[in-house]
Amino acid sequence: MQVSAAVVTHKEQPLVLKRLELDEPRQGEVRVRMVASGVCHTDAIVRDQWYPTPLPAVLGHEGSGIVDAVGPGVTSVEPGDHVVLSFATCGTCKSCLSGHPSYCVNFFELDFGGSRTDGSKAFTDEDGQPVSSHFFGQSSFSTYSNVAERSIVKVSKDAPLELLGPLGCGIQTGAGAVLNVLKPEAGSSVVIFGTGAVGLSGLLAAVASSASIIIAVDIVDSRLEFAKTLGATHTINSKNEDAPARIKEITGGGVDYALDTTGNKFVFAQMLNSMGILGHAALVGAAALGTEASVDIGTLLMSGLTLSMVIEGDSVPQAFIPKLISLYNDGKFPFDKLIKRYDFANINQAFADSESGITLKPVVIFE
Ligand code: NAD
Ligand code: ZN
Repeated sequence: MQVSAAVVTHKEQPLVLKRLELDEPRQGEVRVRMVASGVCHTDAIVRDQWYPTPLPAVLGHEGSGIVDAVGPGVTSVEPGDHVVLSFATCGTCKSCLSGHPSYCVNFFELDFGGSRTDGSKAFTDEDGQPVSSHFFGQSSFSTYSNVAERSIVKVSKDAPLELLGPLGCGIQTGAGAVLNVLKPEAGSSVVIFGTGAVGLSGLLAAVASSASIIIAVDIVDSRLEFAKTLGATHTINSKNEDAPARIKEITGGGVDYALDTTGNKFVFAQMLNSMGILGHAALVGAAALGTEASVDIGTLLMSGLTLSMVIEGDSVPQAFIPKLISLYNDGKFPFDKLIKRYDFANINQAFADSESGITLKPVVIFE
């Protein structure tokens, strides 16, 4: 069928809206009519070819939509079902089988490879050239796409489908790092470094966990002001203040739980220097391969500290995303406050506004 898709044709260049041919859904695939898609930093870094997904390519990995057709062997959904799309995994490796699919040994191939595992691509352009598909199992910057069944999360028809796409990546990443990995108990203290879409999702999860002290750290005052409206009890602009010293002062010795969403090596060291005895710190911010941080392991040894490196909130999307929607429905996870809508035709503006910081989480809406 003919679809309209935003195609990355050249490295570091704006996406181009094109008519493409989409093939039929194959074994284990679901054709989804896209309703909306979030835009994430990972789309921008693949557009810029930090990761080598072959171009031309249809990116997009925070889709939400309605099942249009199912390929052979699909059992979990049927046409008309409302779905959120998340990352793709194999389902058969040790990580997948032990309930940690975001550490799937085939993650890179399935999410960044740009094709099915047999090498075929779902899209063809007007010149008959194949266009990379199956980005995160979904390539959601297209009016219709053939999606891997393991990327599909069925959701209630009562939920606001237009807003749900970012639950599949950025929001699940921040919220999952807090709810699935750090698990702050009621009354505990939490610090979030970096108050972008991922950090603020973590902050909302800390609020939902009834943490008593929730400290937001950033270098942009407007972001810190916004963090306060979402429930931060304290804010620190680390450009003007010594963040570890201030965190130790606020918490009376060191914080219980910490999340670094910046991927900055100096912030990572600040995080470890802010921890209390038996604290638990997590890194989710992406840094270039080869980035090294300097920490005092002599002193840290005494602290009993736990450090986790977390991908996609260590979540099982089919279990975790419905939980986030329940929290949202109960008024305990107002992630909609992070979202700004754009028409699909204005997708390059959505990328630009995310990169300049004007918009926390852009979502493009298909007609
Ligand atoms: P963002 O750019 O919206 O937010 C980052 C925030 O960090 C900004 O508010 C910025 O002002 C702040 N910041 C930058 N440098 C700082 C410093 N030195 N000190 C304090 N604050 C600083 O990005 P986002 O969408 O929230 O994503 C955050 C990170 O998470 C990105 O690196 C993204 O690639 C990564 N990510 C990781 C996963 C995963 O599975 N681990 C998934 C999705 C995204
Ligand atoms: Zn993402």
